[in-house]
Amino acid sequence: MIRADIHAHTLYSHGKDTPQAMYAAALDKGLEIFGFTEHCPRPAGFDYRNEYRENLARHLPDYAREVTELKAAPREGKNGLCRVLFGMEMDWLDGQEEFTRAACRAYDFDYLLGSVHFIGHWGFDDNTQKDWAAFSQEECESRYTAYFTAWEAMLRSGLFNVAAHPDLIKIFSVEQFHIWLASPESRALLKRALTALRDSGMSMEISSAGLRKPCCEIYPAPPVLALAAELDLPVSFASDAHSALDVAFGFARLASYAQSFGFKEYTVFEKGRTLRRPL
Ligand SMILES: [Zn+2]
Ligand SMILES: [Zn+2]
Repeated sequence: MIRADIHAHTLYSHGKDTPQAMYAAALDKGLEIFGFTEHCPRPAGFDYRNEYRENLARHLPDYAREVTELKAAPREGKNGLCRVLFGMEMDWLDGQEEFTRAACRAYDFDYLLGSVHFIGHWGFDDNTQKDWAAFSQEECESRYTAYFTAWEAMLRSGLFNVAAHPDLIKIFSVEQFHIWLASPESRALLKRALTALRDSGMSMEISSAGLRKPCCEIYPAPPVLALAAELDLPVSFASDAHSALDVAFGFARLASYAQSFGFKEYTVFEKGRTLRRPL
């Protein structure tokens, strides 16, 4: 059973619910660990079409205070006490390593998710369906390569604990992505990145968020998870919930998916400590 959901957002970025409502859902789902990982504000120039930077920057102290309060007074859920972890989802952005390094130290975090949402200055995963629909196979493939090249640099930075939604880049072009993924060059790039992940001491997130997106597929896809299994990578599970309804979404499916590749445990990070739980 997966009893830890380590990736969640609130109304302080572009989520729908308060930290308290998200935690209530975690109790109701019988989780033993619930990790809040609000987005980190991005520097100017890295903008989504529906940008939420102002809301986030204004409310970040509220987020930190409310999560810290929940963490200080854990409550009983369906399976006993549910502990709260205070994390953040960090963006890996071109040329912004110093900004990111400073942001990682802004609060006393339990752990950090490392994510690539931008290729150059293009936020590829939000309101970009039309852009993707107009791309040829080759144009898609150049973006997959750029994504995993950035992903590898993110993994090598040593700044983060968990590699979030590993193949997020497939979100609006899953057919083309699988064609790309089948080539030996793509596998070699992925294997190099996943080896960097292993050597960095991070874990790889297995996320149900993709099931709620147009790709209709768990992050990461089976060929990526097969490579991760070959390398014996630590894995963590997450819903990337943006509302209380999403908390622990699809976890039974995530568990059987991971078990089918031989995974037997999952990893949670708490203030530099690595906790392993049976799956
Ligand atoms: Zn993300
Ligand atoms: Zn997220």
